[in-house]
Amino acid sequence: MSISTLRIVWLYPDLLSTYGDRGNLLVLAHRARARGIEVEPMQIRSDQHIPYGADIYLIGGGEDGPQAVAAERLLDDGALGKAAEAGKTIMAVCAGYQLLGESFYANGRCYAGLGILDLRSDRGENRAVGEFTGEGSPVLGIGQITGFENHSGRTRLGEAVQPLARVGAGVGNDGATEGAWAGHVVGTYMHGPALARNPRLADLLLAWAMGVSPDTLAPIDDTWPERLRAERFAALAPE
Ligand code: GLN
Repeated sequence: MSISTLRIVWLYPDLLSTYGDRGNLLVLAHRARARGIEVEPMQIRSDQHIPYGADIYLIGGGEDGPQAVAAERLLDDGALGKAAEAGKTIMAVCAGYQLLGESFYANGRCYAGLGILDLRSDRGENRAVGEFTGEGSPVLGIGQITGFENHSGRTRLGEAVQPLARVGAGVGNDGATEGAWAGHVVGTYMHGPALARNPRLADLLLAWAMGVSPDTLAPIDDTWPERLRAERFAALAPE
């Protein structure tokens, strides 16, 4: 293994951290430590510099106001764009996902995003709220995905990204696809937190960060995540 200590950065907890999104940090740290990998978790507030040399960067969802402030500070800081260029692993949720794109809509106007993912987000006609399921990209091998979504934005993917999933129930980007990925960067509308509900996606991020194939990660006890998944899928099944 090429990494002795996995450095995981949870970005801007003061601005973007709805619906338990910080759970994504806890899940990654747990799944790494369960395999004997040391973890150094870091929380970086929006008034701090983002460390350049971390292995995984996580960013959560939020309301329009904090989302616009976060985009401005991330653009000023510049480290996240450099991390993406250097092939670091990044996962962003909802508002965080939208602001990784070229542009997004908030507070009644369009804002520039970081341009890390080739996508644009506009305002939808209604709010997408509720449980979400989808079929994860076969290329990623993450299986069926489950989450909770709450967003007004709708996202159009460009040619340089691929969808994270095809929508089963819910809306995601536009009712057809959900989320996006390119290189080692993933964006999703799934809260819940997403990695507690999707352990194969969590392991994919760990594998990317460690430069190994996900199949080489030792199996760990997934009794609780599997129970959670079964319960969430059953909640959407017809009576
Ligand atoms: N403000 C964005 C929207 O409504 C993101 C919401 C969120 O992160 N939950 O589309």
